Amino acid sequence: MKIRYCWRCKMDVPMLDEEEGNIASQLYTEGFQEIKKTKKHTVENFKKLLDYYKDLTGFEETNPNAIMHHFIDMYGPNCENCGKPYRTKTATFCPKCGNKRKF
Ligand SMILES: [Zn+2]
Ligand SMILES: [Zn+2]
Repeated sequence: MKIRYCWRCKMDVPMLDEEEGNIASQLYTEGFQEIKKTKKHTVENFKKLLDYYKDLTGFEETNPNAIMHHFIDMYGPNCENCGKPYRTKTATFCPKCGNKRKF
């Protein structure tokens, strides 16, 4: 787990590393299986995922979908100039400060 800036949430959030992300994805899938069982589309079905994220990060997330884009691997490294992460691994410039990325 690592605190990084999220472009979608526009704030620093705890992001999951590869192993943590795999577990979260599994729990997310289980959430959908719960929905099928209960026939109710409520956040309760994703309790395992939300609890896992909370135990791991201390951050009380209420939206299971938000967790699914908080994977470190989904984003590029931090900008050399302003420290915000590049939006993708292959991004060539930083949208925050306009810095051209050095490869
Ligand atoms: Zn986010
Ligand atoms: Zn930048």
